Amino acid sequence: MPDLNRKPPTAVRRALRREVGFGCPVEGCGIPYLEYHHFDPEWHVEKHHRPDGMIALCSTHHAKADAWTVEQCRELKQNPHTAEVSGRFEWMRREVVAIVGGNYYHETPKMVVFRDQPIIWFERDERGYLLLSIRMLSTSGQPRTNLIANDWEILGEPIEVDSPPNGSFLQVKYTNGDEVGIRFKKWESAEKLREIHPRILVLGDQITFPLVTAEVNLAVGGTDIRFSSKKSDLGGMQMQGNVMSRCGVGLAFG
Ligand SMILES: [Zn+2]
Repeated sequence: MPDLNRKPPTAVRRALRREVGFGCPVEGCGIPYLEYHHFDPEWHVEKHHRPDGMIALCSTHHAKADAWTVEQCRELKQNPHTAEVSGRFEWMRREVVAIVGGNYYHETPKMVVFRDQPIIWFERDERGYLLLSIRMLSTSGQPRTNLIANDWEILGEPIEVDSPPNGSFLQVKYTNGDEVGIRFKKWESAEKLREIHPRILVLGDQITFPLVTAEVNLAVGGTDIRFSSKKSDLGGMQMQGNVMSRCGVGLAFG
């Protein structure tokens, strides 16, 4: 029998994140970059993934968690102190290719515009670094997560927030189907990029390696607006594989 993988199954991780309100439950912490601590029994005693004996914690409190008794861990699970949950993408580069709904945007500051308002866009700070912003559209009338200049804030009542400790990924989902996903990734060479995103290579000498991409997925529940990893779906119109470079606005709709 192979050893049980130390990484808990997706459903267990999701349940543990949700239990603590998607942030570290230790009073005064709330950091959203969560790991999974085995306390009853501890991992070295038994390799298990029973959520009852596990708790989601930030990496700092995970490292300190041996100080707590089983009862104290249980108390934290039942009464998490998580308040608002927010984080930040630390990726700051002067060149980032955005991948939105299967289309590619290079040096195109307003990637997606809805009714004359940008909903996915970059702006440069005083050092020239590109900072990403996303405004979620929703028909729910409820607040939604936003990303402003790389800083994100979880709003409304999501059913899922996934923000692993490496800080390169964020996914938020709501019951009505609203969804946002953001992933930053560094590509060391054209060869690596060719395997996954060969279309970007049409930019030729305009891009330099290592290249950073920011992939954004977005869905508006109850509508046919969806930017998935493969394509952009906008009310019956589909787009994918387009490469836009040095356009003021990439895709405008509504
Ligand atoms: Zn913590």
